[in-house]
Amino acid sequence: MTFRLYNTLSGQLDELAPADGAELRMYACGPTVYDYGHIGNFRTFLQVDVLRRFLHLEGIKVRHVMNITDVDDKIIRNAAAAGIPIGEYTPRFTQAFLDDLDSLQIERPEVLARATEHIPEMVDLVERMQEAGASYKTEDGSWYFRLASFPEYGKLSKKDLEGMTDGARVDVDEYEKDSARDFALWKATKPGETSWDTAIGTGRPGWHLECSAMAMKYLGDSFDLHAGGEDLMFPHHENEIAQSESVTHKPLARHWFHVRFLLVDGRKMSKSEGNFYTLRDLLLKGYKASAIRLALISVPYRHQLNFTFEGLTEATNAIDRLRTFVARLTKAALAEGRSDALQAAAEKAEAGYIAALSNDLNTAEARAPIFDLVRTVNSALDSGAVLAGDRDRVLEVLGKFDAVFAVIADNDAAPTKAALAWATEQGLADKVAPELLVAQGLSDEQIDALIAERNTARKQRNFKRSDEIRDELAAKGVIIEDAKDGVRWKRK
Ligand SMILES: [Zn+2]
Repeated sequence: MTFRLYNTLSGQLDELAPADGAELRMYACGPTVYDYGHIGNFRTFLQVDVLRRFLHLEGIKVRHVMNITDVDDKIIRNAAAAGIPIGEYTPRFTQAFLDDLDSLQIERPEVLARATEHIPEMVDLVERMQEAGASYKTEDGSWYFRLASFPEYGKLSKKDLEGMTDGARVDVDEYEKDSARDFALWKATKPGETSWDTAIGTGRPGWHLECSAMAMKYLGDSFDLHAGGEDLMFPHHENEIAQSESVTHKPLARHWFHVRFLLVDGRKMSKSEGNFYTLRDLLLKGYKASAIRLALISVPYRHQLNFTFEGLTEATNAIDRLRTFVARLTKAALAEGRSDALQAAAEKAEAGYIAALSNDLNTAEARAPIFDLVRTVNSALDSGAVLAGDRDRVLEVLGKFDAVFAVIADNDAAPTKAALAWATEQGLADKVAPELLVAQGLSDEQIDALIAERNTARKQRNFKRSDEIRDELAAKGVIIEDAKDGVRWKRK
């Protein structure tokens, strides 16, 4: 079946297949590692994962490159505030990002490219732009892209850009101005800031330059697909196109894939609105990683997702249904043979599932036939109509579902455990849902033993130790009350 995917550049559904017939070369903009990823970020990475997994399911080899932006305005600001070099500031957040990908069952790209490890490639690209008349150096030693040299600017976002003012410049990495300006490629550094001594001067790269240089290094001048969140379309992706195409005169990517923003409870997610969630926040509230994954991928990538806790509960229940069904079907004692009706039902479910994903990755429509199949086979199990050959076929279809959705196989224990360990280490025990602590926490015997130890400590007037034990129990959701007849405890 032909896989058609919306292409921002052409403004229509285009067939997606490797240009070289062998391997689909794709680049996805990665994180800027200055903080923990929020669910809006992860919606994008999850939808790219859905794309990648579906390509694999269709037998298409993928070479997927992702950048890690480990130098930019915000990183420099935060590292300076923490009083440490950026090289000490970013590894913690890079690792947290990779751990979060694992928690969400997001497959790692073939290449993870760190910006700070690709300075020579970026310098080289600035020099090539200069030869092409597309870059220039300012008095302070910074380099800018000359927008007037690239008349196609704006072809991706199709933004109605106001008249270009030749020479008007912007030096920050992120901006939302509708007027096009010359943007910074390379920034002269202020005293004390991280810098590199290079052929184009002492300074550091701008964010836009990083992606162009690294994408072309690993995927060539022109590749199959470029992905990112819709917020990156302008100016970041326009700038990538301008930088690369002004020197190669080839399309940087043939296909541009943009994932739409999400809302939380119908509003834009923001810290000031109190509706801002990282993946870790949700794990500590007791939601399973699989439910978070399913909630974030079930609305197709081009639609706005309104993220709610009801939606997470719905996802939790849906996964329970699938897992319970698979366990029941696997364990059932069945007679040999196959039934025409169930073979046809499995066939229909698989065809509907593949057709929906082939049609612009419609994850919502892809779910429906799978849940229909589960209902049909559950009823057939009730009436004893399932045969061993039906089971094999139905499990095969569910395997194809899970090859993309990745929620039936239960990998939920590790992310929750890791989030709890992280919360303890960061002193965030108060953010942990009590139910989660109870579920993961101490056994009755362990609590009794700690209380006995506390009683001994109190008798010995070792109040430091007795307070420590009380605090430890409190952190694990156990409240103790000193009563006349001894110590009582209860779970929060
Ligand atoms: Zn990028």
